[in-house]
Amino acid sequence: MHDIIIIGGGVIGLSLACELAGEGTKVAVLEKGGIGQESSWAGAGILPPGNPDGARTPEARLRACSHVLWADLSARLREETGIDNGFRRTGGLEVRIGGPVRALEDEVAAWRAEGVTVEPLAGRAVFEREGELHPEVTSAYRLPEMGQVRNPRHLKALAALALLRNVSLMPGTEVHRFELAREKAVAIETSAGRCTAGQFVVAGGAWSGRLLNDIGCPVAVRPLRGQIVLLSMLPTPLSHVVNVGPRYFVPRGDGRVLVGATEEAAGFDKSTTAGGVAGLMDFSLATVPALARATFERCWAGLRPQSADGLPYLGRVPQADNLFVATGHFRAGLQLSPATALLMSQLILGRETRLPLEPYSVTRHAGRRPEFFDQETHSPG
Ligand SMILES: Cc1cc2nc3c(=O)[nH]c(=O)nc-3n(C[C@H](O)[C@H](O)[C@H](O)COP(=O)(O)OP(=O)(O)OC[C@H]3O[C@@H](n4cnc5c(N)ncnc54)[C@H](O)[C@@H]3O)c2cc1C
Repeated sequence: MHDIIIIGGGVIGLSLACELAGEGTKVAVLEKGGIGQESSWAGAGILPPGNPDGARTPEARLRACSHVLWADLSARLREETGIDNGFRRTGGLEVRIGGPVRALEDEVAAWRAEGVTVEPLAGRAVFEREGELHPEVTSAYRLPEMGQVRNPRHLKALAALALLRNVSLMPGTEVHRFELAREKAVAIETSAGRCTAGQFVVAGGAWSGRLLNDIGCPVAVRPLRGQIVLLSMLPTPLSHVVNVGPRYFVPRGDGRVLVGATEEAAGFDKSTTAGGVAGLMDFSLATVPALARATFERCWAGLRPQSADGLPYLGRVPQADNLFVATGHFRAGLQLSPATALLMSQLILGRETRLPLEPYSVTRHAGRRPEFFDQETHSPG
């Protein structure tokens, strides 16, 4: 029997499996599809900076906790598995084209208040950093500590580390339901039969609500589709991650540039659409005109696990004291995965957690669960 069964082999489930197995526990990861093939594969891998000393909100505290873990984690993965996950601090620009010159002043002030290094850019300074941006950039700032990771490589490295630590990775194994008795999860019913374990963790991304709502656990998670386009062009016209509000460019350093992303409530449909891709192309050429000469490589879509308030659910399920949840990371699951793994392993192993977990509790919406989530959480997967 395993000590701990984790349901979901995305970045959250794999990161937690590595952490727990590193502490000597016997872990299995049950995954209905292929390991690391859903949202975690599809994401852009942008890693915004943070500062544990200046973080004041639950979002900022978790981001900062992760920020300080990424470099060591990446080095450890490279050493132990031989796989380079592509983690780099390339820096990031936030820009606006047209509109008021002072549009980003509040954001600059917020980063400063958090103690994160930020450089406001004006006039020529913008183009000294990124010479191919549209000439009508009206306001911009730079975050030198912004990083990025190559998601597929990171997932491959995590899976390799998990195997080195004797984690049982079980792709093609869907968990259908929990069996509860006397406020404990005693077993799960899966496509491969009934499985028992001492403790269970739901890390099922956008699908998590289905399992949890069935046992009365009030998490509100729905899929929010994101489409991404991959272009390639040498020399690459950008060196920073460039954000324009919710849309962005991620230059990979090998000529490839990711352009993302749409935000669409489309249930569990992962199709790419003509409208989605056209919107991303219009955005690309309006922001970096030189990309008109880039080659269109491919496009894809993934389902972000969106929670009701944008914060993940990290904690124990009230219905069973050996059942835990780590899900709902929305647009930030890659960046928040190291902190999630650390905090959840501390909680599961009964240790003091580096951050208080109350702001992320599964019961935080008790009595005011948003109605509009109901339909999506029960859609077929
Ligand atoms: C287009 C796009 C861009 C993004 N960009 C970024 C970014 O730049 N930075 C960032 O930090 N984040 C980004 N994200 C968000 C990030 O990808 C997610 O927050 C993160 O991947 C969530 O990880 P997860 O492990 O919870 O979910 P997933 O990766 O979806 O993994 C959950 C797994 O659980 C499995 N599962 C579910 N139910 C069951 C069951 N009953 N039985 C067995 N297995 C089950 C699923 O098959 C799936 O493999 C982006 C997402 C998208 C779609």
